[in-house]
Amino acid sequence: TFSRGFCTKKKNLDFTKVEISRLPTVIILGRPNVGKSALFNRLIRRREALVYNTPDDHVTRDIREGVAKLGHLRFRVLDSAGLEAEATSGSILHRTASFTANVLSTSHSLLFLTDARAGLHPLDQEVGKWLRKNAPQLKPILVMNKSESLFDVDGSLASSANEMSRLGFGDPIAISAETGLGMHDLFLSLQPVLEDYMLNESAKENTCGDESSFPEADESKLPLQLAIVGRPNVGKSTLLNTLLQEDRVLVGPEAGLTRDAIRTQFEFQGRTIYLVDTAGWLQRTKLEKGASSLSIMQSRKSLLRAHIIALVLDAGEIVSAKRSMKHAEVVIARRAVEEGRGLVVIVNKMDLLRGKNKSASYEQVLEAVQQEIQTIIPQVTGIPVVFISALEGRGRTTVLHQVIDTYEKWCTRLSTARLNRWLQKVMSRHSWKDQAAQPKIKYFTQVKARPPTFVAFVHGKTKLSDTDTRFLTKSLKDDFDLGGIPIRIMQRSIA
Ligand code: GDP
Ligand code: GDP
Repeated sequence: TFSRGFCTKKKNLDFTKVEISRLPTVIILGRPNVGKSALFNRLIRRREALVYNTPDDHVTRDIREGVAKLGHLRFRVLDSAGLEAEATSGSILHRTASFTANVLSTSHSLLFLTDARAGLHPLDQEVGKWLRKNAPQLKPILVMNKSESLFDVDGSLASSANEMSRLGFGDPIAISAETGLGMHDLFLSLQPVLEDYMLNESAKENTCGDESSFPEADESKLPLQLAIVGRPNVGKSTLLNTLLQEDRVLVGPEAGLTRDAIRTQFEFQGRTIYLVDTAGWLQRTKLEKGASSLSIMQSRKSLLRAHIIALVLDAGEIVSAKRSMKHAEVVIARRAVEEGRGLVVIVNKMDLLRGKNKSASYEQVLEAVQQEIQTIIPQVTGIPVVFISALEGRGRTTVLHQVIDTYEKWCTRLSTARLNRWLQKVMSRHSWKDQAAQPKIKYFTQVKARPPTFVAFVHGKTKLSDTDTRFLTKSLKDDFDLGGIPIRIMQRSIA
């Protein structure tokens, strides 16, 4: 992908050229001295870099290329530091422009590096302006390097982040290329872009949609996986037909999965949704009609395969019974949340409530279901409840919007900078009865999405009480619109 004039100075022994060319490309850009080379070196670890040079404007300009490893992500990383080092005159724009614009057009992600200790620099602004003009297709990830000391001083991380966000590329990720701090946040921001790229590439190679050709493939990388569960006769098959409409595509069985794990996939508003286990499950439920137990489909393993669980209830039964949910349904709802899945409750057969005293029955069902869900799953507020009539083909859009909304919340990733700014506000908003009881949280970071999982780093002896954790969970929900999904908060002590 490089233009003429490049030559290889060193050989990279770990990867062949073909393998490298299949990897997504991430370029590190920024004004001189922010630590681009330091970050490059950390990302490629001990592997050797390939060095390219190009005779351009009579100046030899080097760009280093290496294979980066960050968590399970592999990508091709380019360090543009050599461009400035060799240049002797002209603005940063002039120095990098001719060369970089070319490289940018073949990059998949861009790390815009700044220096936390130096703060926002006029040259950062210049780089930002240049990027907006020359690489509008890339969404730069703003990175604040040399942040190691900021973590030690209360509030300084948040105020530096505030300053950097004035560049207009969102909140920065705080890292230290020298100490390795913040690499997990960097991983979280690169992951969606790079995984999308790899999935697209493997889809291009294999039109059957079999991900097994992608070496890193695992279930967590697949698009939205939806499981429809519920007791026999609540209307799952009917709902399924409504959801699939004529877009139905049957795929599989795939390598690595059991024969009966056949997946059904369909499109909704440009998004692919997989229905987990549907084919096998449909056959089994037909055999099990009338049985009171949940089908095999609803075992823990099936639940884990799905991202979102749609639990179907029967409105007719709710009106005639005192409890809105039967034991089996309570079990499945609780289990879904315990396993960290997103839960959407679907009350089907609403057409049965039509006619006689319709509005009273509707209110009755709504209240009964919402109350019961809150009672059985007190740890998650706002689990969505959708009312439909599958028989009349009503509710497809409502169900799918709710499923997608829940999935997106479930995938939320919040940067450490943003979270720490939030933490400061939240801690001052809350008044502790006893000042001494106030937890000393040094910083707060999201370590995982799907579901969102956070770690609070607390001072040595202090510990978060259950009340503190509940308070933080509720505040996260309210402030980042994360209601209805499980959120996890862990704590670690630091000296
Ligand atoms: P480049 O010009 O952007 O490639 O910057 P370099 O990687 O050459 O780094 C410039 C200077 O910043 C060097 O002295 C590095 O040792 C220093 N540096 C790089 N990363 C960090 C960091 O995370 N923390 C601190 N304190 N210094 C760093
Ligand atoms: P499954 O066992 O959960 O797959 O349930 P089915 O989809 O086979 O439906 C069981 C029965 O409920 C069938 O007779 C359906 O026609 C009926 N049914 C499904 N959805 C509705 C609905 O929205 N309203 C009404 N009145 N009946 C429904």
